[in-house]
Parts: sequence; C-alpha cells; structure tokens
Amino acid sequence: MEKDILIIGGGPSGLSSALHLIKIAPHLSHRILILEKMHYPRPKLCAGGLVADAEIILQRLGLDVSEVPHVDASAAHFEFEGRGIKISVPKSHTIRVIRRNEFDHWLAKKTREAGIEIREGVTVKNIIPDKDGVTVETDQGNFCAQIVVGADGSNGITRRSVLPNRPVYTARVLEVITPNYPIITRNEAILGINNEIASGKSTPRNDQAYFDFFPVPDNIAGYVWDFPTQINGEPMRCWGIYDTNLLAGQERPPLKKPLADEMARHGFNLDDHELKGHPIRWYDPFNPISVPRVLLVGDAVGADPIFGEGISMALGYGAIAAQEINTSIRRAEFSFSGYKRRLVWSGLGQTLLARWVITQIIYPLKWRWFQILLWRFLKPIVILVAWVFVLNWGKRIRT
Ligand SMILES: Cc1cc2nc3c(=O)[nH]c(=O)nc-3n(C[C@H](O)[C@H](O)[C@H](O)COP(=O)(O)OP(=O)(O)OC[C@H]3O[C@@H](n4cnc5c(N)ncnc54)[C@H](O)[C@@H]3O)c2cc1C
Repeated sequence: MEKDILIIGGGPSGLSSALHLIKIAPHLSHRILILEKMHYPRPKLCAGGLVADAEIILQRLGLDVSEVPHVDASAAHFEFEGRGIKISVPKSHTIRVIRRNEFDHWLAKKTREAGIEIREGVTVKNIIPDKDGVTVETDQGNFCAQIVVGADGSNGITRRSVLPNRPVYTARVLEVITPNYPIITRNEAILGINNEIASGKSTPRNDQAYFDFFPVPDNIAGYVWDFPTQINGEPMRCWGIYDTNLLAGQERPPLKKPLADEMARHGFNLDDHELKGHPIRWYDPFNPISVPRVLLVGDAVGADPIFGEGISMALGYGAIAAQEINTSIRRAEFSFSGYKRRLVWSGLGQTLLARWVITQIIYPLKWRWFQILLWRFLKPIVILVAWVFVLNWGKRIRT
C-alpha cells in the first residue's frame, strides 16, 4: 500500500501532526495514513493533566476539549513535604484532567471527521528509509511512503529503527487510581488506624492537584503527584511518582515507597490498588530528531524532563512537524535537515530547552534545605521562571 505520509502512532502527537498538516495544506488529507497498533478507546497509562498550552493548541485547531469527560483542578500545589506554592487562575481551572482512553478516542474521531484515514490494529515492526522512499514493515504487510512521522511514544519502533544506538533518557513512572476518599474499615476505626482522617485533621483532598518534591533528598529526582480525576463520571484520584533517573547512580529506596508513604498520609493503602508503571522518554537537546524522510514527534523526541508532562508537548510537536513536512513537500526535498532548527526556535523548543536546564539544576541540588528554600522561600522567583520559561509557550507556536 502506498501513501505519501505515514504517521506511526495515533496518540496526541500523531493525531496533532495530521490535523495541523491538513490545516495548512488541506489538499494533503487523502495522502495521509495513520497506523495505530491498538483499537480506540485504548488504555494509555497517564495522569491526564492538561495545562493551558494544550487547550490553546486544540482551540486553534477548532477543537473544544470540554467535550471530553474531565475534572477541573481549581489549583495546583508545588510543595516540599506538604508546604510550598499554590497556583490558581482567577475564574478558571488551573489544570484540566482527562482520561487518555477518552481523550485520544475523541481526538481520533475529530481527525477522521477531518478526512484523515486511521487504520487501527496495525503494528509497525520496522522502518527502512532509502533515497526513493520509506518501507514500513507491519504485521499486516508492507507500506511505502515518501515521508514517515514517528509518533509511537517513549518505547516506539521508529526511533529504534532509524536512530539505533543513540542515548535515550527515560524517567521511571508509577501510577495508581483510587476512590476519591479513603475507605476506613470498622476495624481500622476501632484500632485507631486512619485516626487523622476520621477526626478530620487530615482532610481528604479536594478538587486540587498536588506535586510534592519530598523524594528528592532520597535521590529520587522527581515528585509524587495527586490529581482529582473521574472514571465513568465517578470522582476518583490519580496518584503517582515520577523519577527522571538523574540520580540513578546513587542509592535510592524502591520507587513505590515514597508513593505508598504519601498515600498513607492521606489515609490510602497503596497495596489495596493496582499499581502500573511506564517509562517516559524525556527531551535532550543533543539528541537527533530526524533522518532523511523520517521525523519524530511527541515522546519519540522527548517529553518535559521536569514533570514528565507530554500531552501539550505532543500537540505542539505536531504543529512543528506539519510545517516541516509542508515545506519539504513543496520543495520535493525530504532531508528534514531544518526540522531541529525549526523546533529549537519555536515556543515548544524554547520551553523544552529551559525545562532541560532547570532539570539539570534543581534535581542534583537534592539537599533538603535547598528543596525547602526553593519551594517555600523562593516563591516569587519560581513563579516568575515558571511564567516566562515553563508556561505560555502554546501561544508562540505557529499553527
Ligand atoms: C504514568 C504517566 C503519567 C503521565 N501523566 C501525564 C500528565 O498528567 N500530563 C501530561 O501532559 N503528560 C503525562 N504523561 C506523558 C504523556 O502520557 C505522554 O507524553 C504522551 O502520551 C505522549 O504522546 P505521544 O502521542 O507522543 O505518544 P503516546 O501517547 O504514547 O502514543 C503513541 C501511540 O503509538 C502507538 N504505537 C506504539 N507503537 C506502535 C507500533 N509499533 N505500531 C503502531 N502504533 C504504535 C501506541 O499504541 C499509541 O497509541 C504521563 C505519562 C505516564 C507514563
């Protein structure tokens, strides 16, 4: 089967690449094919926190994410051991939390409605570019294309096929979903376990999102999160722990431990719930992101290293890849030698670089006193840096 543009992976980066491409070059719609190995609505391990930049990019595509079931977090806390910075946006939510099975299914529906073909249940096995085109080997036979977009996530085959032996930096991530409130059994009440919750001293968390960096002094270069979420309309909480692995050379407790400790502080027993893990590849400015005829987007390039935030980035990568592809088709020149430059000069590239620099500073300075200083006493500086370098890049993406 022959198509001009094959997109490997129907997650946010692949779907965004297609949607942006037909926004700037509508005549390409019938020349694009997305191959997705799963069937929608497919599970995807992710806390589903959408920042404003994701919503801005979707709005510019004419999409209203409030159509997807969601919970709005009224504030986000960035803390060390329970105290730190609280960020809220007047008259609006701070973070919108979606479930990825629902969000990705919705985005795939919008992509199909825009006239783009998506083939589900096709697993790509190998990608072989040469000077005349690209052969994509799948479990359903071979496909040929002029251009391939690798949007197949952190473990994707595209990067492994076209850029083997390149260093990759991956974070370890664990996630668990719990009911909104801890369930206190009669025995626990009698034995005095969960007394704090029962007595109302430690209130079950509300509609706010929490990021606590308390594991850093123990060489876990990341944080524990707790978000409000929903499953089938039922209020739930999503807990997890993120470790960039930057301090991997030093002794660390099992990743599960700080998460279990934090959940216990709020009356939850981690062992009562299903714990799942998945790596996140994070952005490194020195890594190549394309070869002739093949370019990478989303986690295949890298997510934000500070938080492992990647949905807004995936949507942004799609916008930049679309411009690069459109230019290459007009010039009939497929080296993609300008793709990295295009990324670096974009709002997305600037925030990724800034976040990479910040990651290299704040996690190795792992001392307790430094983390307390950072999250509790340097609030104005942290908020300013976040405002200038971390947030507000979505507006600076050309779509
Ligand atoms: C536990 C966890 C929590 C997270 N929480 C957040 C959060 O709250 N907010 C946030 O912004 N980010 C979060 N992230 C990161 C976010 O999930 C990713 O950055 C985002 O999904 C990247 O999108 P993508 O389209 O690049 O890749 P993916 O979403 O991984 O999509 C890749 C797609 O490619 C398909 N695919 C893979 N291999 C093949 C193949 N061989 N053939 C065909 N198809 C293939 C997959 O089925 C999938 O549909 C989290 C990640 C994890 C692991």
